[in-house]
Amino acid sequence: MNVPRLALNDGNSMPQLGYGVWQIPNDETETAVAHALEAGYRLIDTAAIYGNEEGVGRAIRASGLPREELFITTKLWNDRHGDAEAALDESLRRLGLDYLDLYLIHWPAPKYDNYLSAWKSLGNLKSSGKAKSVGVSNFMEKHLQVLFEETGTVPAVNQIELHPFFTQEDMRAFHARYGITTESWSPLGQGGALLDHPTIINLARKHERSPAQIVLRWHLDLGLVAIPKSATPRRIAENLAVFDFELDDEDRSAISALHTGNRLGAHPDNTDW
Ligand code: NAD
Repeated sequence: MNVPRLALNDGNSMPQLGYGVWQIPNDETETAVAHALEAGYRLIDTAAIYGNEEGVGRAIRASGLPREELFITTKLWNDRHGDAEAALDESLRRLGLDYLDLYLIHWPAPKYDNYLSAWKSLGNLKSSGKAKSVGVSNFMEKHLQVLFEETGTVPAVNQIELHPFFTQEDMRAFHARYGITTESWSPLGQGGALLDHPTIINLARKHERSPAQIVLRWHLDLGLVAIPKSATPRRIAENLAVFDFELDDEDRSAISALHTGNRLGAHPDNTDW
């Protein structure tokens, strides 16, 4: 399985399709990630707060895959913005790795009002080689502007909620202006209503593909990185089998027109954790 890679603004590159492990319990994560690696995923997306970095690490070691073939992302939790370097060391220890491919600030976290300091620390971690690339997650334009103005540096990636019900057109345009790669979280809209939507079902019939495959193809066509999650081996494989069919302009527009303006997850300004 040859997943295309996207060039990042720091000279590195990342696979365009990966496997997310939010809500997979630590003791089930090794098996789930083993299925994903077996299917051909090389990008694994976890976070300190998911509590399953050890499970990811066990699957990596058991796979026997060379480290350089993998692209491992984890995230700094909100209450560690003041000591990101220690938090990264703890994540590396749990993963059993000596470097990350991508380290993200998970949320801007207004409660702590300290993401600028976290971003400066991530710059040091990149220089030290402990994180090959550094970025953010759930940052809005105003948060990114603070980073640009105060440090003159630009995150490689912003991982944000993005799916056909919440298309993030403005953020995508903003990222394009600054060379930031957009990574879509909950790319399948968490399953359910999106995958049951008549527009998606009709396109699935037209292309003889599953609804999830139609939605993932839309992300790829928009130049996004997508990290769908499933714990079911059949779906894990299905979500990667999206490189041998194409949507046309009309298909893509019909999917983009499903935008509702409503998030499924939290608004970055309204979190108190
Ligand atoms: P998702 O959009 O990937 O949907 C996952 C759900 O869709 C599954 O639980 C399953 O019910 C269903 N599904 C998956 N494949 C399917 C298929 N082929 N057919 C039918 N149904 C299918 O949602 P998610 O898990 O919320 O997001 C994916 C990843 O994004 C997470 O695991 C995590 O890594 C990341 N994420 C990041 C943040 C953040 O704040 N940065 C927030 C949420 C999620």
